[in-house]
Amino acid sequence: MIDQNTFNLIIYSWIALAFITFFILLKVTAPYGRHTKSNWGPMIGNKTGWFIMELPALVVPFIFFFTGRITPGTVPWIFILLFGLHYFNRVIIFPFRLRTGKKKMPLIIAGMAVFFNFVNGFIIGYFLGNFSGYYDITWLHDPRFIIGIIFFITGLSINWSADNTLIRLRKNSKNGYQIPYGGLFEYISCPNLFGEILEWTGFAILMWNLPGLSFALWTLANLLPRAIDHHKWYKDYFDNYPVERKAVIPFLV
Ligand code: NDP
Repeated sequence: MIDQNTFNLIIYSWIALAFITFFILLKVTAPYGRHTKSNWGPMIGNKTGWFIMELPALVVPFIFFFTGRITPGTVPWIFILLFGLHYFNRVIIFPFRLRTGKKKMPLIIAGMAVFFNFVNGFIIGYFLGNFSGYYDITWLHDPRFIIGIIFFITGLSINWSADNTLIRLRKNSKNGYQIPYGGLFEYISCPNLFGEILEWTGFAILMWNLPGLSFALWTLANLLPRAIDHHKWYKDYFDNYPVERKAVIPFLV
């Protein structure tokens, strides 16, 4: 059993690692998807890689949620179900819809993502299963919950819709890439990553605690550099790429 102080110390250390990771990812492009490389050691199939690397985020939080020392109330149940909703799609649906053919990703990338998802899943699940006893039902009327859930649902919808658009594009492009148009794609190159950032920012607001903040910061640390890399890639790959588009935050970044 980890006490609250030790648990918080683990999270502060984990947040420090997120900052370091952010600066590394600004320099080193993570080699999967369009940036995949074959000189990073053994490779694994892209779809298998996605399934394996995201699986801990679906399983680990629920294990700690159910094996914690408290019986979680309604509000923690809502939190874990929101988390589970996102990762049910990411693990059980998303990988099997990808049209990435025989594409592969480095095994080490999948391994690092397993670690990342394991620790994040542990933090969320352990908190909810052990330290979430202070939430009562009135939290559902709190402005932080209401604003957070609006952000979360909006972000989730944007993420799912943009992922769908990109997967559909692949249907017509015979394994190649096309310039996406429509909706937020008119303003930014990566609405799917923008949606995911908005979603987990909302999750941090609706939980209003250190585990939620930690997860939102890790999402930002991973996805901001990835969106910048995607945007640069689009501009290099397509001569006619719309110049007014930003990478991930409309009109800003
Ligand atoms: P991408 O936008 O790069 O790709 C999504 C899918 O669409 C891939 O199958 C890709 O193929 C295909 N695709 C992308 N752009 C085009 C295009 N212009 N034309 C045709 N096909 C295209 O997404 P990411 O791989 O960066 O991320 C996928 C999802 O995972 C996102 O929802 C993201 O938010 C989430 N994610 C979350 C992270 C986190 O830390 N929480 C970390 C990383 C991702 P291909 O693979 O061949 O490029």
